[in-house]
Amino acid sequence: MTHPHSSSDAPNTAPHRDFIREMVADDVATNRFGRQIATRFPPEPNGFPHIGHVKAICLNFGIRDEFGGRCNLRFDDTNPAGEDVKYVEAFKNDIRWLGFEWDEELYASDYFERLYEFGELLVRKGSAYVDSQTDEEIRATRGTVTTPGTNSRYRDRSVEENLDLLRRMKAGEFADGTHVLRGKIDMAHPNMLMRDPILLRIRHTPHYRQGDAWCLYPLYDFAHPLSDAMEGITHSLCTLEFKDNNDIYRWLVHECGFERPPEQTEFSRLSLEYTVMSKRKLLRLVKDGIVGGWDDPRMPTISGLRRRGVTPEGLRAFVETAGVTRKPQRTELATLEAAVRSDLNMRVPRVMCVTRPLKVVLTNYPEGQVEQLEASYYPHDVPKTGSRMVPFSRELYIERDDFMENPPKKFFRLAPGREVRLRYGYFITCTDVIKDAAGEIVELHCTYDPATRGGDAPDGRKVQGTIHWVSATESLRCELRLYDKLFTIPDPDDVEDFMSVLNPESLTVVSDARIEPSVAADPLGTRYQFERTGYFISDPIDSTPARLVFNRTVTLRDTWAKVARG
Ligand code: ATP
Ligand code: MG
Repeated sequence: MTHPHSSSDAPNTAPHRDFIREMVADDVATNRFGRQIATRFPPEPNGFPHIGHVKAICLNFGIRDEFGGRCNLRFDDTNPAGEDVKYVEAFKNDIRWLGFEWDEELYASDYFERLYEFGELLVRKGSAYVDSQTDEEIRATRGTVTTPGTNSRYRDRSVEENLDLLRRMKAGEFADGTHVLRGKIDMAHPNMLMRDPILLRIRHTPHYRQGDAWCLYPLYDFAHPLSDAMEGITHSLCTLEFKDNNDIYRWLVHECGFERPPEQTEFSRLSLEYTVMSKRKLLRLVKDGIVGGWDDPRMPTISGLRRRGVTPEGLRAFVETAGVTRKPQRTELATLEAAVRSDLNMRVPRVMCVTRPLKVVLTNYPEGQVEQLEASYYPHDVPKTGSRMVPFSRELYIERDDFMENPPKKFFRLAPGREVRLRYGYFITCTDVIKDAAGEIVELHCTYDPATRGGDAPDGRKVQGTIHWVSATESLRCELRLYDKLFTIPDPDDVEDFMSVLNPESLTVVSDARIEPSVAADPLGTRYQFERTGYFISDPIDSTPARLVFNRTVTLRDTWAKVARG
């Protein structure tokens, strides 16, 4: 099966002219809004930002940068439940890490008073009323997609009565759920959302910024369009699930008297295979201890991806590749991995680390001798230079998988009697396989050819395999955290309970890997390619000089695409 959005290995990083940028370019050319282009990124601070937000961030800030406009960071914090300043800080931190800076930092909760005033304005115009039906009655009288709703018996209250009730709602005289302010639109409107939408509701719940100052909270459909309009936003970009809300958006900014109001345009959400994206679901993973926190490297959060070793540039390139369209799609994991690899390939040094060590004793190498071999950090096709010294000694470790006692035909690595190249080192030949009583291989005896120092034979003889290694005596023991996908199926959102399809093997900890000693001098959070293994980053939190910890960002080869191609 082929996927229309499957990637090639090299992501196209040229900026895409998507349908939204086309539209903005037209609006700039015709001066449609009579003012500077203005966008906003409006997160609700009820969780950490994730890779879906990266798409919205790159779009909103990208348009600001491309067209010389403004972009506000506005926290859409009008629902007191679940919002917290720690999430505000996470958004600010991660947006900056991605490389963007907002023009203004704003909070919808700072608009509570002004939003309330708009409520009074609508009442005075006869465009809103206080409904005193129960929540249940309101729901029951909305009608269905095929049948109209019925008017509330409170719909024709006088302006005076409405104003009196509204003021007392604000003053805290009523309990939760006793009254709401509703727009007076049309209970038979074909768009269900237009059937007298609720604008303000009573919640005697403290707000993380406003404390107990308010008990009357605006709903999204009331707060969002008016916040945009008050800020002079021109292009209000949001995801497709708000498509039907666009009618309310237009109605409200018009009723409230804004000239050349902002206009809403929808695009499809980014969603990624083998993960969930909603903050509510991600919170569940954190709360239930499935992951170590919001920044667990398996999480699709920006902080998780950062701790995993992904760079801001890699993430932005990925989002560019995925593009901005109106077609709902789930992006293949391979597309993200390809973008991450191609970014890291050009920037990180190569070092040697042995994941599952097998001891090799070079029987003809002087005992106690240690020599330093020069090893370059980058291959020829990367425009960076630099090298380090790697110690070589009589006892080495190689990868257990790089030796086979009875190799099949296409296995070109070490085997009894076979000669291979140790990267940057010497040619070695396996002479003996030493086993324990149970028949397990415990070490290999090899000879080395002193004439092949640096990895070339003066007589021109060739070997078919080159393997990586470290000195057994000079290398450092380290912990590797190998990550796999968090869910076992590509669409965990599609099953009844997403927690039932968790991958129990999403994390493998290797506690006795061995790494060349050069890395000890590097700061925490340094990224590498471990030769022939994958891209890794030293864990910025858990790694210490006494116990080095590396997180695998991504493997070297694109295993998923292979599996998919079959
Ligand atoms: P979540 O379900 O993760 O909480 P949300 O849409 O409620 O998502 P917000 O914090 O309110 O999250 O979103 C802030 C902005 O980011 C909105 O404009 C929203 O449309 C956008 N956004 C959120 N998720 C995605 C996504 N997966 N792809 C693209 N844009 C997104
Ligand atoms: Mg939300």
